[in-house]
Amino acid sequence: MSTQTLPETQAPETAQATQYVYFFGGGKADGSGKMKDVLGGKGAGLHDMTHAGLPVPPGFTIQTEACREYMRADKTSPEVEHETEEALRRLEKLQGQKLGAGENPLLVSVRSGAKFSMPGMMDTILNLGLNDQSVQALARRSNNPRFAADSYRRLIQMFGNVVLDIPKSAFDEVFEGIKKKKKAKLDTDLDAKALEQVIAEYKKVVRRHAKRDFPQDPQEQLAMARDAVFRSWNNERAKTYRRINNISDDLGTAVNVQAMVFGNLGETSGTGVGFTRNPATGAKEFYGEFLMNAQGEDVVSGVRTPVHISELAKIMPGVYHQLREITTRLEKHYRDMQDFEFTIQDGKLYMLQTRNGKRTGLAAVRVALDMVKEGLIKPEEAIFRVEPNQLYDFLVPRLDEKSAKVEVLATGLPASPGAAVGQIVFTADEAVAKAGHGAKKSPVILVRAETTPEDIHGMEVAVGILTSRGGMTSHAAVVTRGMGKCCVAGAGDIEVDEKAREMRVQGQTFQEGDWISLDGTTGRVIKGRLHTLPASPDDPDLQKLLSWSEPFRKLGVRANADIPRDAIQARAFGAEGIGLCRTEHMFFAEDRIPHMRAMILASTEKERRAALRKLLPMQRSDFIGVFRAMDGLPVTIRTLDPPLHEFLPRREDLMVEIAKLEITRPRSPKLKELKKLLRRVEELHEMNPMLGLRGCRLGITYPEITEMQVRAIFEAAVTVAKEGVKVHPEVMIPLVSTLKEMANQKAIVVRVAEEVFAEKEQRVDYLVGTMIELPRAALVAGEIAKEAQFFSYGTNDLTQTTFGFSRDDINTFLPAYRAQGILKQDPFEQLDREGVGQLVRMGVEKGRQTNPKLKIGICGEHGGEPSSVEFCHLVGLNYVSCSPFRVLTARLAAAQAAAREKLGLEGGATK
Ligand code: PEP
Ligand code: MG
Repeated sequence: MSTQTLPETQAPETAQATQYVYFFGGGKADGSGKMKDVLGGKGAGLHDMTHAGLPVPPGFTIQTEACREYMRADKTSPEVEHETEEALRRLEKLQGQKLGAGENPLLVSVRSGAKFSMPGMMDTILNLGLNDQSVQALARRSNNPRFAADSYRRLIQMFGNVVLDIPKSAFDEVFEGIKKKKKAKLDTDLDAKALEQVIAEYKKVVRRHAKRDFPQDPQEQLAMARDAVFRSWNNERAKTYRRINNISDDLGTAVNVQAMVFGNLGETSGTGVGFTRNPATGAKEFYGEFLMNAQGEDVVSGVRTPVHISELAKIMPGVYHQLREITTRLEKHYRDMQDFEFTIQDGKLYMLQTRNGKRTGLAAVRVALDMVKEGLIKPEEAIFRVEPNQLYDFLVPRLDEKSAKVEVLATGLPASPGAAVGQIVFTADEAVAKAGHGAKKSPVILVRAETTPEDIHGMEVAVGILTSRGGMTSHAAVVTRGMGKCCVAGAGDIEVDEKAREMRVQGQTFQEGDWISLDGTTGRVIKGRLHTLPASPDDPDLQKLLSWSEPFRKLGVRANADIPRDAIQARAFGAEGIGLCRTEHMFFAEDRIPHMRAMILASTEKERRAALRKLLPMQRSDFIGVFRAMDGLPVTIRTLDPPLHEFLPRREDLMVEIAKLEITRPRSPKLKELKKLLRRVEELHEMNPMLGLRGCRLGITYPEITEMQVRAIFEAAVTVAKEGVKVHPEVMIPLVSTLKEMANQKAIVVRVAEEVFAEKEQRVDYLVGTMIELPRAALVAGEIAKEAQFFSYGTNDLTQTTFGFSRDDINTFLPAYRAQGILKQDPFEQLDREGVGQLVRMGVEKGRQTNPKLKIGICGEHGGEPSSVEFCHLVGLNYVSCSPFRVLTARLAAAQAAAREKLGLEGGATK
């Protein structure tokens, strides 16, 4: 084994005509590690490893442009066909074999490989080239007819499913049927004869479903497989994965065709996957799993539970040391933790893949820090090694084990940290149905024997995942770590019966809807519904990383918090103020809602003022708590915003209750009261409440509401100021679209503030500003800035009113929009830079033309979403404000945006 370092090869000069196929093998490669756009991540890695003289089976990469052309034209061009054939001839020559022919037939794998790794989302076909003749030759050559037959049946199965679109279950039924007939427990219990029967039955399955025979011509197999891999770029699970991970749909995948090496040739063969560091914790330890006498799919699919890589040192010490040496070099070369795949064929090691490994947030921070210590990367690189959303891992809850009896049902692998408490579901579709949306939302835990890429939509909505099979590199483990979602994998004591919708463990049976709790940090599965405890964000590794990122950050980060508890939490996470305190949330409390209703039901100003007087001390005490929590930091308090009917019971519910009382207690005072309430509810009824009497329109229609709130704010401010607390109240007027609205409400604020200062003989500095959450406000921002001392973008409403999409109802049509490629992202999640973003930019420019010092922030949900935070940085906002649990994410996203700009790094957060 040579010990040269991997070369920094340059991408070849682009020739005039597009080169579609890049060959690698025999120590040479047409491409290089830098060509991920062209060759995909896997392809680039293969070319790079070949250059370095690593033991990589030879082959060729059909580049991503061929996939894009395929998607446009719905067929492969003659140039791609021609170059594929030429590359195959070259491979045959190098190997001294012919694809699927002769006594020593060449067999190949055909695998997808996009620029960004999408584990398991697209399709792979192994053993291609086998047919009725070559399977015989393979049996003779390997002297192992069982192995040959097993390889052939796997090909028919994969080809049938991936290329001919035959459901997997059609093959599984045949396989399980024959296993049963032969009384075989394990797949490996089937002998060559039985596998021949499987093959014959599989061929019938193909004929029945695809209305054609399994192709015997190896060239035809190859062309069909290549095109199927191109098509798999657009399968549903790949599309879902791209949406979740923000990967562009336009990139396309490359296809890697590579000579097969076999891990299932007997007891001196095997296959495995691994990481150069622990992907769950980041600890610097060689980490991986393997199986002897197995093919790749067996390890990652979780069908057989693999063995820890350290065992390989005992079974094959030479191979183990070679693997360690190679992977250590790879990590040094790529300067990042590697995730690798290898196969041992007859005692000889082959590297099949290397790529930057997926990891939890905890691991990402630890690896970044360690690599700086090891001199592999610099601190300013380390800050990009962590995705802002991953910091959420530091805030994941733990189970509160004191709150209830802890009955551990089983212990599996701690595949992805955190805690999850939810009701059991057994399929991804049930997860989606039960997790639901809005009010019906219920936390679910998806319980499966193993997950497959088809479960991705269920995994997305579940709070946690539990599998009974599979290791730390199983599909469930890898995907949940990427999602930052709690997962316990391979809990072998649990028997999952997906058909009966039951989970059996320790003699107990659990059904759909039963509650369980998962501890993804220790791997425990616990019976019942435990409480969870919030995590502490003062991890020293995290603080160190932040000490490198924070100096770059230009944007301030505030939190949206309504009550003192949230304010304290936000401050602990590093919030530099409160950017939005929604005062209405204070009115929903049980002891307050009656007074709020009395205020709404009042028919005269006098009655209304009387009700408001009852609310005043309550609001004041809330504000005192928030001001104290934020001592020294600004607190933006918004006047009442939502339509009043939100505080009243639903009209339909009232009608039912009245109808019942009319029969049972027709003379009761309650009935009279309810009828009055119903009348008022009907008076307040609006066709479009979101566009009706809400926001500043409330304070303009009922000025006494604004007066009470402003009095509560300033009485609280003065009270705490007298205690020595530094208060910086910022009063914010919602849903403004004209200068006069702003002027109207501002006048009330200033008048009442002065009254309070005079009464209490104490002043505090304060600002009066507005939300910009209607398109008109952005258009006339220059005017509004004459009265507003600050702007805060309410991008929830601004998105709603710019698109004309109801923020509460978008889920009725968003799935169709996504399926048809009309929208890629939910615009309420990620700021629409193109449309809404234009209004934001315009408002900033116009506002600052009037007042160059105008302070501008954002407090819509986008304020904690990394790509939107980057946009806020780019348009020059002063701060973002988000929910307390997104403060860390926003801090890192803001720092990365600034560092990217300062260091001249290309690309944004969008992949
Ligand atoms: C907004 O519209 O973006 C906003 C922050 O206000 P709310 O969500 O309370 O309407
Ligand atoms: Mg709003």
